[in-house]
This record gives sequence, structure tokens and C-alpha cells, in this order.
Amino acid sequence: MLPNADNTLFAWMCDIRRSLHRLPELAYHEHQTSALIARELDNLGIPYQQGLAGGTGIRAEIGSEKGNAPCVALRADMDALPIVEETGLPFSSGRPGLMHACGHDGHVAMLLGAAKLLRDMELAGKVVLFFQPAEESGNGAAAMIADQALSGVEMIFSAHIDTHYPVGQITVDEGLICSFTDPFTITIHGSGGHAARPHEAVDSVVVACNLVMNMQTLVSRQINPNQPAVVTVGRIEAGTVHNVIAEHAILEGTVRSAHRETRERVLQGLERVILGAADMCNAEIKLKFFDSLPAVVNDVWATSLARKAALAVVGQEGVCSQGQPSLGGEDFSFYQQQVPGCMVRIGGCRQDRTAGPAHSARFDFDEELLRYGAVWFAEVASSSLENMIYSR
Ligand SMILES: [Zn+2]
Ligand SMILES: [Zn+2]
Repeated sequence: MLPNADNTLFAWMCDIRRSLHRLPELAYHEHQTSALIARELDNLGIPYQQGLAGGTGIRAEIGSEKGNAPCVALRADMDALPIVEETGLPFSSGRPGLMHACGHDGHVAMLLGAAKLLRDMELAGKVVLFFQPAEESGNGAAAMIADQALSGVEMIFSAHIDTHYPVGQITVDEGLICSFTDPFTITIHGSGGHAARPHEAVDSVVVACNLVMNMQTLVSRQINPNQPAVVTVGRIEAGTVHNVIAEHAILEGTVRSAHRETRERVLQGLERVILGAADMCNAEIKLKFFDSLPAVVNDVWATSLARKAALAVVGQEGVCSQGQPSLGGEDFSFYQQQVPGCMVRIGGCRQDRTAGPAHSARFDFDEELLRYGAVWFAEVASSSLENMIYSR
């Protein structure tokens, strides 16, 4: 029988979501978030391990491993973003400059909701809950794995809130759903001088502009147009004042690609663009990649179980496809390199449609989605355990 997220559970999840929304914490600094989760797990009587993945990660366990009973994991991420909130919500961020603008507050709330449901269910094995730090930056999933969080786990599921879809819709897709992500920093070392005498200097601002424009041709001229890719420079820093030629410049950006070959081509192309610019402008340029993420590729079996659970929760009319792979990145991909896994998207567009998109200062979602998220999590875990026993 499908677990039921009644009004008491819903109100409790909303409380948790709002408390977390008031207290956004950045990657690897989710100390109060982690403490709140631990407190709720204590209240629920669910045992857990704290201090994982650099200190804030939590791994909780429900059900028991009898003999060779199966084990599945459910994962929520819990970090916020460096954004100044402008939602005007009564439970807005109490920390200036930080905001839960990706819905991770909701992820924690719905996984705790699922924990409460699962605790009272008859399970055919063990369900492990991951409360993971540092999804937005820092690859917290890899840190959880390094701390043995996946030990004994045979399959893993996650759900991301997505306000492109209304409440009551869940997207389930097999194969690649999120892209390869390769963030980079480029450091340009020129030489400073007087604005009126450029021939005595190497102007890092001109080198930076040259690089940014040339990078755009990687995607437009060197990549198969049927294979999506993006090169974005999100930050440039250079110079101090109008009449001084900048000696240094820093560019920060990211490469996104949905195919392995495309990824290789763009990354190699970026190296060539940099070598060319360095040569042409007589500057020293260094390229460094950090926090690269593999693509999220949903496993066939795990996806079929995720779909069955979604059908049970939202019916045929509620289950849909996201269509093209997203060029967003997700460190859930690290778990999928170890065990079969599936990530779905839980629709949560607010009815008044006045909220901004994810990663914007006006991001918000319809809290009704917490019911669907909690029930889907509980259902996919319990039905997967049964399916795994059956297929042994
Ligand atoms: Zn995000
Ligand atoms: Zn996110």
C-alpha cells in the first residue's frame, strides 16, 4: 500500500523546510543544518552516523539486514548558494548573502518525511539515507563515498525539485539527464603600465576579452551542432583604475557537454585557444579545472523502479520526460559510478508563477511538492527492496 503523507507530516516537513530556509549554509559549512537533521532523526528514533564528508554529512539507517537482504540508498543534498535573497518570504534567509536557491532545503525536508514514513513500514531490507554536503561546489558526493557511505548499498535514488513542472508531475528518464561539468579558472599574467603607453605593457584585459570571444567559437565552430555543449565565463576580475593597464586578470567559467567526445573536444579546444592567446598577446596564461563532474546517467533497472514508484504516486498523467538532457551538473553522478542509480525531478512550480528560476534571488517552490517527494522516496525504496529480493 502506498504510504500517505497526511497533513501532520506535511506541516512537519514545511516547518523543517522553513527552518532550513532561514539558515542557509554553504558547501561543507552545513553545521546547523546537520544538527537539525540529527535532532529530527533522534526524535524519530532512527540511528545514524554523523561527521561524514568533511564533518556535516549524515548517513542514517532504517530496517535491518537479515541474511542477504537488499539495501538501497536515498540521497538529499543540503547546501545553499551565495545569493542575496529577494523573495520577500516571511521565512527568508536570516544570513545576508546566502540563500537556499536550489531547493536543497526542500530535499532535506522530504527525505526526513520519507524517513518518518519508512520507519513505520514493513521493509524487505535496509534503507540508507544520505544527507550530503556540498552539491553546489566541492563534490560532496565524492566525499561521502570516500567515507564509505555506499558500503553495502546496491542501488541509489535521488529527486531534485524542478519548478519547470507543476506540482504532481515527476520526470523519469533513462540514460543521460545531466551533463559533464568542467568548471575552470584562467589566470592571465601580463605586465602593468600607463594607460597611454600600451606598448610598454601586456594588457591582461585585452587578453581576457580575446579569450572570452575565442572560446565562443569552440561550441559554434568545432562541435557537432547535434551534440549540446556550452562554454560560459561567469566571472572576470581585472584591473584597479581607468588609467592603469591591468597586469593580471582572472576568468572563471564552466564547460558543459552531454557527450564524452564533445567534452574532450571542448576541453582540448580550450587549451588551444589559451596557447594561441598567450602566444599572440605575449602573456602567460594558466588554465585550471576543478570540481569536474561526470554526467548523471540513469541506470535502466533503477529507472524502471523509479518510474513504477512515480506511477504509483502521481499516476500516468503525472509521469513525464524532461526531454533533452539538461546542461546542468549534479554530483549524484559519483554515486552512479559505483552503484546503479536514478535521479528524478519533482515538479514544484508555484501556482502564482511569480517566483524566479533556480539559482536566482527570487527562487521559491510550492511546498505541496514535499508530499509527493516524501511519498515517492518511501515508495521507491520499499518497492525496490521487494523487487531486488524477487530478482535474487
Ligand atoms: Zn543548484
Ligand atoms: Zn540543486
